[in-house]
Amino acid sequence: MDHLWRDRMAYILGAAKPPEGMCVFCEAPRQADDAAVYILHRGRLAYVILNIFPYNTGHVMINPYAHIDSIEKLDDDALLEIMQLTQLSLAAIRRVSQPHGFNLGANLGKAAGGGIDQHFHFHIVPRWQGDTNFMPIVAHTRVLPENLDDLYRRLRPAFDEVAYEMKL
Ligand SMILES: [Zn+2]
Repeated sequence: MDHLWRDRMAYILGAAKPPEGMCVFCEAPRQADDAAVYILHRGRLAYVILNIFPYNTGHVMINPYAHIDSIEKLDDDALLEIMQLTQLSLAAIRRVSQPHGFNLGANLGKAAGGGIDQHFHFHIVPRWQGDTNFMPIVAHTRVLPENLDDLYRRLRPAFDEVAYEMKL
């Protein structure tokens, strides 16, 4: 996942190869065009972005802007906002694609399956009955045929709508 993300983000950012040490989760929110990097919502301390190589359709990540590698380094404001953005994401995804359930979580460290383990990110993976056998979010990347641009265009209005309702 690490390589796929970096290659794709490098392409999006117009670089043949990502610069050494570039962090895609720091770079993505620096882009002006949300749609170009699939950012669904920008909060004050964290943002929501589509995973471009999802474990399931509608897999999003909530990332703090701060380049920190673990949850215990987040302050109270950031912790609260990440949970509020989790509520936002669940509600918005439910409106668009009516999943039967969700997996939520984080992979901290390479040993835990963290692809980009230097920048904490919280996964939200929609699930449907029978979509697959139980698949922990540490499973290997699955590339799905769904067009991410179409998915983004369906999800973004729902995120805007729910964010307005939640006064985020
Ligand atoms: Zn970073």
